[in-house]
Amino acid sequence: MTATKERAASLREQLVAWRRHLHQHPELSFEEHETAGYIEAELKKMPGLTVTRPTATSVLAVLKGGEPGRTVLLRADIDALPITEENDFEFKSKNEGIMHACGHDGHTAILLGTAKMLTDHPEDVPGEVRMIFQHAEEFGPGGAEELVTQTSLMDGVDVVTGLHLNSQLPAGMVAVKPGAFMASPDMLELKIKGKGGHGAHPEEAIDPIAIGAQVITNLQHVVSRHVGAQDALVVTIAKFQAGTTHNVIPDTAELMGTVRTFDPELRQKAPKLIERVIKGICDAHGATYELKYEFGYRPLINTDWVAEQLREIALAEVGEEHFMVSKPTMGGEDFSAYLEKAPGAYFNVGSGSDEADSKWPHHHPRFTLDELSLETGARMLHEAALKLTMPQK
Ligand SMILES: [Zn+2]
Ligand SMILES: [Zn+2]
Repeated sequence: MTATKERAASLREQLVAWRRHLHQHPELSFEEHETAGYIEAELKKMPGLTVTRPTATSVLAVLKGGEPGRTVLLRADIDALPITEENDFEFKSKNEGIMHACGHDGHTAILLGTAKMLTDHPEDVPGEVRMIFQHAEEFGPGGAEELVTQTSLMDGVDVVTGLHLNSQLPAGMVAVKPGAFMASPDMLELKIKGKGGHGAHPEEAIDPIAIGAQVITNLQHVVSRHVGAQDALVVTIAKFQAGTTHNVIPDTAELMGTVRTFDPELRQKAPKLIERVIKGICDAHGATYELKYEFGYRPLINTDWVAEQLREIALAEVGEEHFMVSKPTMGGEDFSAYLEKAPGAYFNVGSGSDEADSKWPHHHPRFTLDELSLETGARMLHEAALKLTMPQK
């Protein structure tokens, strides 16, 4: 058994207690006041930490080691979602309509546990470890962007890491990937303006529903015919609203969708390709349109050498049987904001198991964690803190 495994095992009950308290008291993005207060109070029980509030609802704990070394940033996100929990355990959400359905309660407990393990043995730590409990991951423009651009958090940071629990991986599994890992979640909002009329006389109207249907199918040609198959692009129209009844052609149709890719260049090109299709179809049928296109979080591209170090850490700490190279995902993450300022890598820890009934997808009202994953997460971040702070040869 590694020393880190032993330390994490001795924290088992505490990790679960932190997670369950947070799970019972979820708060939405930018409103994490009680959550931040709780985190701050728990950190202040740990001697040797300097604890501050970089923004109203985020918390930073800094541990300075005794020897020279690098400065490492560890990140956990702390916000919850507007979901009504359908779990029935005794620690289910007490805040109506709000739920930790993404595992950020677990991330917070894991980073608190990491802080505890590090402060119990500060003599092991060279350099400096910064632990950021970040607000508002779930709601753009996101807390990371605010911390990176509005505070001095990243000044002097040499390397950054953090993790996301993943219910689709077996509990205790660590998954790391170099390079492109998560996509940019960009958003489009389209209003097609036609001309309303009687359903019996479409020739006198400009039917925005028929035009919208063509736009939707033609947008898939952008994916399949204007972008190489090796360059992943997803265009999904997830909202299409128009009309009131069976025999009235409405004036307008409203569509919303998401556009995702890993490639920064393709990301810049996508709005033009998409608008060309919209404009062409609207022109062809005499309609006009309004298009709003919003860039969300950047694609999350892991730095190769940091991912390699995390792989080595995982192999030494959890062993080959609990390690895998992760697949990239079209999901988005504002962790990418930190990677604009420093090298780093984001990784997954599995939290799914049949015993804990924790294989529900993220953002589902039944989402929960196999709490054994808390120990795995804390072991990984603790080892990452010790290894990544070591001075470079
Ligand atoms: Zn989420
Ligand atoms: Zn999340």
